[in-house]
Amino acid sequence: MPKNEGERSNQRESRIRNDIQIVPIILSIFAITACIILFFRQYQMQKRLYDLEGQMAIITLEMTEDSKRDSRLVDAQTSAVVDSWGTFYEDREIRLAEIAAEELAAQFDPEKAAHKVYLTFDDGPSEYTEQILDILDEYNVKATFFVIGKEDDESLRLYKEIVDRGHTLGMHSYSHKYSEIYRSKDAFVKDFEKIYTLLTDATGVEPLFYRFPGGSSNTVSKVDLHICTEYLKSIGIIYFDWNVMSGDANTNGVPVEDLIYNSTADIETRATSVVLLHDTATKGTTVEALPTIIEKIFAMEDTAILPITTSTELVQHIN
Ligand SMILES: [Zn+2]
Repeated sequence: MPKNEGERSNQRESRIRNDIQIVPIILSIFAITACIILFFRQYQMQKRLYDLEGQMAIITLEMTEDSKRDSRLVDAQTSAVVDSWGTFYEDREIRLAEIAAEELAAQFDPEKAAHKVYLTFDDGPSEYTEQILDILDEYNVKATFFVIGKEDDESLRLYKEIVDRGHTLGMHSYSHKYSEIYRSKDAFVKDFEKIYTLLTDATGVEPLFYRFPGGSSNTVSKVDLHICTEYLKSIGIIYFDWNVMSGDANTNGVPVEDLIYNSTADIETRATSVVLLHDTATKGTTVEALPTIIEKIFAMEDTAILPITTSTELVQHIN
């Protein structure tokens, strides 16, 4: 083998040895770098996780605070400090219990209330009828209107409006003139038939209830009122008097405070209160008093305002 050739062979071997020695070093450097990157990534993710846990705790605290603010049972709540999901669930259970209690209250059956109140408006329709209906709607209250006979377009519209808005439309005679209605049984029947037909035609609903002008115990009638009550009974009409007088019949412009007091003072002492109110152009203070009358009744325990129906306990001055 020539010398030059031998040297070249030696150099090649030495290069290959060097190359082989460098591979593990490169691999080691690569592995160490990978480890450093992975360690750094893991550190970043751990930090992000801590941040998220912190944010979650703040959101949980805010949610709990909101539910407490909304709650009527705020006093029953535990401490506002929320440091884990455990307390979040605890507070959520309290909130769920509150919702269940609210739903139970919403299921309150007015028909089973200890004190039932029937607001009744006599002598309409009038220029105040629409306003009365709006107030009743505002409080979601249904009442009873004992109306008299009027044939102008506005009155015909109001009869229907009373029915359409869910109230009870009762009869209070056509003419409301004592001298005519109570002249004889025939006169009474004639007047009755007139108002019955008018309301049936105007609303498409046959009225079921009657209130005698002056009440069934009035002393101005020339006819024995028992004859009239028997007649109504024979044709399936139920008559109602009242057992609470608002006082608005006494004179015009009765002070609002008096009407409120008279209408509400004794409601909690009886099971059924039929309140006598009036819907006429001269009874503006009755309209003014109405919102407070309703609010006062709403504030009473186990008390409901209802429209007169066939299941209403009878309130009649004579039998
Ligand atoms: Zn009247």
